[in-house]
Amino acid sequence: MYKLSELDQICSKCNRCKLHKDRNKVVFGEGNIETDLMFVGEAPGFNEDRLGKPFVGKAGHLLDKMLKSISLNRDQIYITNIVKCRPPSNRNPEESEIEKCLPYLRWQVKIIQPKIIVSLGSVSAKILIDDNIKITKGRGKIYTKGKIKFIPTLHPAYLLRNPNAKKDSWEDFKLIAKTLKEIRSI
Ligand code: URA
Repeated sequence: MYKLSELDQICSKCNRCKLHKDRNKVVFGEGNIETDLMFVGEAPGFNEDRLGKPFVGKAGHLLDKMLKSISLNRDQIYITNIVKCRPPSNRNPEESEIEKCLPYLRWQVKIIQPKIIVSLGSVSAKILIDDNIKITKGRGKIYTKGKIKFIPTLHPAYLLRNPNAKKDSWEDFKLIAKTLKEIRSI
């Protein structure tokens, strides 16, 4: 079994798909490795690619605010993406890129053993929960798979474009907080 730091090292040299050609930095993920709560986004964007850290742009700032609204911060969660390198012009990651990158996420989950995984946005929800999920309908519910409860919610970048949807996302974050509280009291 790898340590997370070893996996990070391996991932930083990854050339399994074509995304490695244009990347500045691999965005492996970061946060509390003993957490019960993991967030999984789609793919790094411009700022993430520069800094090698997930969710550091505008969407990330909104995510921080949403976490704060349920009394959480980045030090209490682990956050990563479905793919670890930025797709050109922020296009959606291709199926083959996702397939090549997924083993890293599987290892991260194996090592961290979160009890709740929040899928941020449609790509993450389709890959982790159900290929047929429609994020606007399927969000804000708990999907249990094995020992993990998956909660899909809207991507913060979507919320920046559709501020009216923030009220839905607030409901989802209340559900995340409630589920976390229940897990901690078991
Ligand atoms: N959007 C994502 O899905 N992930 C990031 O890390 C940043 C923006």
